Amino acid sequence: MIPFLDLTRQHAALRGDLLAAAARVLDSSRFVLGEEGKALEAALAARHGVRHAVGVASGTDALRLALAALGVGPGDEVLTPAFSFVASATTIVMVGARPVFVDIEPETYALDVAAAERALTPRTRAIVPVHLYGHPAPMDRVQAFARAHRLAVVEDAAQAIGASWAGKPVGAWGDAACLSFYPTKNLGACGDAGMVLTDRDDLAARLSRLRHHGDHGRYQHVEFGYSSRLDEVQAALLAVKVRHLDAWTERRRRIAARYRDLLGGVGLGLPVERLGARHVYHLFSVRHPQRDALQKALANQGVGTAVHYPLPVPGQQVFGGGGERLYPEAWRAAREVLSIPSFPELTDGEVERVAAAVRQACERL
Ligand SMILES: *Cc1c(COP(=O)(O)O)cnc(C)c1O
Repeated sequence: MIPFLDLTRQHAALRGDLLAAAARVLDSSRFVLGEEGKALEAALAARHGVRHAVGVASGTDALRLALAALGVGPGDEVLTPAFSFVASATTIVMVGARPVFVDIEPETYALDVAAAERALTPRTRAIVPVHLYGHPAPMDRVQAFARAHRLAVVEDAAQAIGASWAGKPVGAWGDAACLSFYPTKNLGACGDAGMVLTDRDDLAARLSRLRHHGDHGRYQHVEFGYSSRLDEVQAALLAVKVRHLDAWTERRRRIAARYRDLLGGVGLGLPVERLGARHVYHLFSVRHPQRDALQKALANQGVGTAVHYPLPVPGQQVFGGGGERLYPEAWRAAREVLSIPSFPELTDGEVERVAAAVRQACERL
């Protein structure tokens, strides 16, 4: 049996360091907004070449607070891809604005900038490009489009820490960018955590207030805020893991290269890496018109897989359902994509066994 994802392997390897980090926080007994969080913020800001990083309770809250800090609210429309994790759109609703869905480019799953242009109205205030599966959205085109129409840009980089576009890291392009440290992400906490990156001093100051009840300092509440802080235990654990992130990313890329070598010529759609893009393979998602049969055949061979995502965002009940004719590429992706195991701790032998099982299944479909 080869699991789709096995986090216990990573945690077994880092067990001593993680327990020591957690013990350090316990001994300090400073659990919220302390030195661990500050150190992690400084490390991640430096890593992305931006001036500020603000730790929050989750990737979802990072998006919600970034939109709120930009002043996005009732009466505003925000462009967001029709194919993503649901939080790329629900957070727009959480601040009182309206998500306007945009279809995707079929090869990279990034929002289609030409479709975004057609969806513009006088109320459009912001755009949320998502670097889905770890492949960067075409940020030079997104930025040019946003500038031309005076839109704020909030990058959803939840799946893409370490990725870059035209040599510049994702997270460093938008007015703000959002990271998730949900346990299964490329840099995962042992619980929920997230962060907003920004180069703008005004946004950073507002984000620091918004995550803590609009507090300007010493119980001076100057606006309505949230209770959404990155806790010190998670920050300390993440500081241990971030030291390994580059090696993990390299391993993900090597596994992807191996799959590419082994999976050609069987009628399977393989992930692309656009010229100028550095993909970090949060997910290695293949495409097949008979996806469900392929998934079943792999399960029978003991290979774990997952579908990200079986229903486009506007098709979700919470957004009213439907939309297949408006967003055909999103719907086609939802029918065809299948993520196969690609976490860094997979052995070379397991990668080969997965590839052999996929080849065999495809040949029999
Ligand atoms: C995981 C994820 C989020 C939300 O992050 P959480 O930390 O789970 O709240 C948002 N957008 C995308 C694309 C994600 O994959």
